[in-house]
Amino acid sequence: MKWTLEGYTLRLKRTFRLFGYSKDVVPVGIVRLREANIEAYGEVSPLSITGETLEQTQRVLRELQNREYPALLFHDQFSEFLRQTFPQLPSTRAALDMACLDWLGKKWGLPLYQLLGVNPEYAPPTSFTIGIDEPEVITEKVQEATPFPVLKVKLGTSYDQRIIETIRQLTDKPLRVDANEAWTKEEAVEKIDWLATQNVELVEQPLPIGHLEDVAWLRERISLPLFADEDVMDSSDVLRLQGIYDGINIKLMKCGGIHEALRMVHIARALDMKVMIGCMIESSVGITAAAHLAPLADYVDLDGNLLIDNDPFVGVSIEEGRLVLSGDPGLGVRPRTAHAE
Ligand code: MG
Repeated sequence: MKWTLEGYTLRLKRTFRLFGYSKDVVPVGIVRLREANIEAYGEVSPLSITGETLEQTQRVLRELQNREYPALLFHDQFSEFLRQTFPQLPSTRAALDMACLDWLGKKWGLPLYQLLGVNPEYAPPTSFTIGIDEPEVITEKVQEATPFPVLKVKLGTSYDQRIIETIRQLTDKPLRVDANEAWTKEEAVEKIDWLATQNVELVEQPLPIGHLEDVAWLRERISLPLFADEDVMDSSDVLRLQGIYDGINIKLMKCGGIHEALRMVHIARALDMKVMIGCMIESSVGITAAAHLAPLADYVDLDGNLLIDNDPFVGVSIEEGRLVLSGDPGLGVRPRTAHAE
């Protein structure tokens, strides 16, 4: 069995701005697994919150060459081995977990959604993200997002109302707002009260990470559902969010892979919480892996690959905002060749 890592620098079509930072490029790694004449893929888009790096991913792959671990045929055991052995590296684990499932699907000739027992036709459409920008740029982005039935809008500025008003001059589509921890609780009450009059469906991570008492205080005073993003990494976080948040945003890079994402879905459902499947800036490998989980979600936010202009892979496609999986075995991704696309 051979694991290798190749680094890529994803180029954003436009500078991606949200509260606290902006970026033009994103370093990611594609993990390749070769075993029994099958090549499988996974992606790591290192999380800044955990300080992960591709060098750490490389070290993990070297370690895997030299140690015993459960056979890939038993995905749950392999996934659990990764969780216990590399607890601090969720994005790296996500890549290995994806590659394992891609390999399994190819071995058995089944697309991942069939391995998971879900029907891709039930996936809700994905939102398209509008980052923080000047009104002219926001106008252009909203026009580019015409095929998408719902928009996710990044807020957390002194001109949040102007951003929404700019969008509302162009479209009455439902909006989802992500404040990326930017607001104080008093500011959040005021802003969310107004957003509730603007066909906004939900608000994600309004307050700084860890301020759960303030989120509970806020939730008593507003009418829109609140979703945790920065406040939820993996399944161990979900229980303490009950009664505080209405839903959770699950991302493979945060939680460590499909297996852990499924646990989060089940815990959230047991607690009567809503589920969003989200992403980081990723190529089509990571986004396609997450797309197989989309039928289990109430809300889908899988547009990370649409924001880049040098996607090294081809995978899930989008038709009128809906995710369309190829039906090929495994993840259903392949390297983009110079001639094909
Ligand atoms: Mg978010």
